[in-house]
Amino acid sequence: MNFYGVFLKQEKVKKLLSFTIKENNVIRALKLPQEIFLPLLFSVHYGGDWSLKKNSKKLMSIKEKLTKYDENRKVGCTLELIYLFVNPVLVSEEGKIYRMEKCSNNNERKLVERPYKLTINGEYILKATLDPKKMKIFLKRLEGPINFLGPCAYGASHEIEHLNHDSIKGVPFYDFEYILEE
Ligand SMILES: [Zn+2]
Repeated sequence: MNFYGVFLKQEKVKKLLSFTIKENNVIRALKLPQEIFLPLLFSVHYGGDWSLKKNSKKLMSIKEKLTKYDENRKVGCTLELIYLFVNPVLVSEEGKIYRMEKCSNNNERKLVERPYKLTINGEYILKATLDPKKMKIFLKRLEGPINFLGPCAYGASHEIEHLNHDSIKGVPFYDFEYILEE
């Protein structure tokens, strides 16, 4: 690595450290055990939905994407709405969608059934809105229940399955059959 490379690496470490300090401060201001926020932080840092069990608490984060587009200026942004649930409870679900899913625990895709609509409540719900245009992450406490539709309902159902049964049940891709069409 040349001198400039070392300089860039130092700059990155500095920025990452400064971000982490600010992140810890904002979490401390919420006055709850720090581990509660882990799934939300994973969603911010690495993307996707997350779930984990920690100190007899079930925790999950569900990410919703919302693209705003200005037809006149031809510019927009994809907002990320991340919902953090402590001890999520499934209130209701509707519909059955057959779909393929891949889980980070297992790379083989599986056929699963998910609800199209789903309502979840939790002991504590926090919403993070990540705005890529403003480069800000807004945090807001919410009162449940929260309704999810489509991709978010699939994601929430997937994470609740992890929390309640650990692994995801489904039919593997190798049970499918290719058909050559005329
Ligand atoms: Zn999974």
